[in-house]
Amino acid sequence: MGYSVSIDRDACISSGNCVADSPSAFDFDDDDIAVVKEGAAELPDERLLRVARNCPAGAIILRDDEGNEVDLFG
Ligand code: SF4
Repeated sequence: MGYSVSIDRDACISSGNCVADSPSAFDFDDDDIAVVKEGAAELPDERLLRVARNCPAGAIILRDDEGNEVDLFG
């Protein structure tokens, strides 16, 4: 099973990096805050890692199948 993805809504600064990189997995809500789409489940973990690392606000949270937060830069 791959990583699960969530967005820290308070941290997101609406840069759009995630939406531009993987529009099947991320979109903006009506407040221009990123939201995770169902397509995120189909992206490989390496791709999710890249997107999360490229978030300028560190707002994309990945968890492994045990629910532990993934250390993006570890
Ligand atoms: S890359 Fe990060 S800051 Fe930019 S829209 Fe996505 S979650 Fe928000």
